[in-house]
Order: sequence, then structure tokens, then C-alpha cells
Amino acid sequence: MSGLRRHVPLRRCVACRESLPKAQLERLIRGESGWAHDASGRAGGRGTWFCHACLERLDERSVTRALARTFRQDTEQVRALLLTLRSRRAALTAASPDATDTPQTPASAREATVTPSNDARHGGTNG
Ligand SMILES: [Zn+2]
Repeated sequence: MSGLRRHVPLRRCVACRESLPKAQLERLIRGESGWAHDASGRAGGRGTWFCHACLERLDERSVTRALARTFRQDTEQVRALLLTLRSRRAALTAASPDATDTPQTPASAREATVTPSNDARHGGTNG
């Protein structure tokens, strides 16, 4: 595979159905004890994405209905989780006004450390 293009991975928000760059969404995963925030965005299991814009609009009817439709009996739990995320984000923004949604993904892979191996082995000739 050659010809790598710069591609921004998009994820769809469950509430507004917008496809956005991953940096603008939070991932929720369904764990054994209910829904949890997946900060890394790459944990295994069933995941659901929720954008920051909808995080700010949690109290609006459209978002509330989308949550109920998606999470059903877990709606209250997810809502509490999202409220926590929202206040955490608000605290972060208040602490450092410069903090924006800069993705923290490493742009390039680090240089692989090459260990010199002694491949050139010359066995004694028997005979
Ligand atoms: Zn959204």
C-alpha cells in the first residue's frame, strides 16, 4: 500500500449525527459496570461518540431525546457521565485559556532503535 494521504478520521456523534474529527468528540464505552469515558478513544468494546457541541447542549430537548433513543435504560447513567465530562472540560478551559482542542496524537512514529546484531557468523569448516 503506497500513496498515504493525510486523512482525518471522522466519527459520528450519536446525538446530532454529525461526522467530526475524533478530537472534537468524546468516546463512551459500555463496560461491565455500565458506560464509561474512554479517554484514549481506542479501547475495545462497543463505543459511542458524543461531540463537544452536544456536550454543551445536554439540556436541550433534541439531545435529551437522542440520548434516550440511543442508551434507553442507561440514559440516566450516560447523562450523569456526560455532565461530569462537561464540567471537567469547563474546568480545563478555565484553568488555561490557551487550551484548545489540540489532538495529542503523535504525528510521526519515533525512530526505531536498531540494535546491532551479529548476523555474520562464520562457523568453522569441519572436514
Ligand atoms: Zn453532536
